[in-house]
Amino acid sequence: MENVWKKYDFSDEETLNEVCDDYRAFLSVSKIEREVVMNSIILADNMEFKNLDSYIEENKPLKPGDKVYVNNRGKSLALFVIGEEDITKGMNILGAHVDSPRLDLKANPIYEEDEFAYLDTHYYGGIKKYQWVTIPLALHGVVVKKDGEVIAVEIGEDDEDPVFGITDLLPHLGQEQMKKEASKVIEGEKLDLLIGSVPLQTDEKDEKDLVKKNVLEILNRKYRIEEDDFLSAEIEVVPAGNARDFGFDQSMIMGYGQDDKVCAYTSLRAFLDCPPCGRTISCILVDKEEIGSVGATGMHSSFYENALQEICNLLGHTENTAVSRCLSNSFMLSSDVNAAYDPLYSDVMDKRNASFFNQGVVFCKYTGSRGKSGSNDANAEFIAKLRRIMDDHNVHFQISELGKVDAGGGGTIAYILANRNVNVIDCGVGVLSMHAPWEITSKADIYEAYKCYLAFLQDA
Ligand code: MN
Ligand code: MN
Repeated sequence: MENVWKKYDFSDEETLNEVCDDYRAFLSVSKIEREVVMNSIILADNMEFKNLDSYIEENKPLKPGDKVYVNNRGKSLALFVIGEEDITKGMNILGAHVDSPRLDLKANPIYEEDEFAYLDTHYYGGIKKYQWVTIPLALHGVVVKKDGEVIAVEIGEDDEDPVFGITDLLPHLGQEQMKKEASKVIEGEKLDLLIGSVPLQTDEKDEKDLVKKNVLEILNRKYRIEEDDFLSAEIEVVPAGNARDFGFDQSMIMGYGQDDKVCAYTSLRAFLDCPPCGRTISCILVDKEEIGSVGATGMHSSFYENALQEICNLLGHTENTAVSRCLSNSFMLSSDVNAAYDPLYSDVMDKRNASFFNQGVVFCKYTGSRGKSGSNDANAEFIAKLRRIMDDHNVHFQISELGKVDAGGGGTIAYILANRNVNVIDCGVGVLSMHAPWEITSKADIYEAYKCYLAFLQDA
């Protein structure tokens, strides 16, 4: 296949740069699921979307052209534009996840050891632990006070802010460490964040843990956070700093959490840019994919079907078959990233079935591991329909698997909607260094993903 950059003319590059510049800016300020949801709602508000709750409370009927969203606990979001066609004929759905691998603070995180103060963490999702030491880290999330007040935390992103980090052994004394296998070089309980070294000034001679107390004093003074408040907090430790253009030719983007914000952003943008079309369209931005799509804010939660039930009711479909008919007749792109071919690690790829940078958006018929275990195996008929749509809209695409058959594997949210009888296929952007603190994507593939999602919403 030909490198898609060769096929672009000036107008392609103009739109490509616009989409990618906006994506890079969005990525820099949307590092955790709550920030993605908040920033997505701002974009939707600008397009005059309304919270579905306002319709439910007033029992106000929905009609074609209405734009609504459902905010599930600030961590997942479902958006809908009602089409002219009856909703039981199905929807065109884009679904991406907005959580990314990271370190979470434990419930009792703060401690002092030999006059250093630390925050204890528990890693979230599949990480190579050794990648998280000696890089600048930031804290993002919320602290919820007993009275319900929510204090947003974002420390380490402004130039004025301090950053935090995890130390590693110097090579001079690392002889024994360097003999360990990579999964044990840095152990989970050693992923503790160094946060301070100055003791609190006090007249009490016997007082202990003064460095920790000094940090707590600062937390209270600057952010009104007390030690007990960590019990009801969700604070995520993520790489500090902005997403950046990558390479001399600036053809790539490096940023934290591109799995799966690269598909979340392009899906949302295509959804918001989509001109009115016959079918109802929907965009799902969902939490907890990296740990199995569990919990109230993960794709296994009934929140999406509950929302759909409300929408069907407000459209006058009170029969109890409405939701199941709608889902059975729906098409969905589970928009998630794929492992791009890396010449430095070619041994884990089947080159004839790998995805490549600059070859366009990636369709993945099945994920899973070993004998396709845990996969959604998309129907050939559905793939044929998508091939036609992509060709009609001049979208460059490739079809791949995630690595060699016995090399490992992975999953997405695809099978969950497929279990509800939706026609689903995985479709997203290839990533280098996936799940590393800084992941790399190709701008051409980001642009093709956006074009693909737009074409799918209009024509599926
Ligand atoms: Mn993913
Ligand atoms: Mn992932």
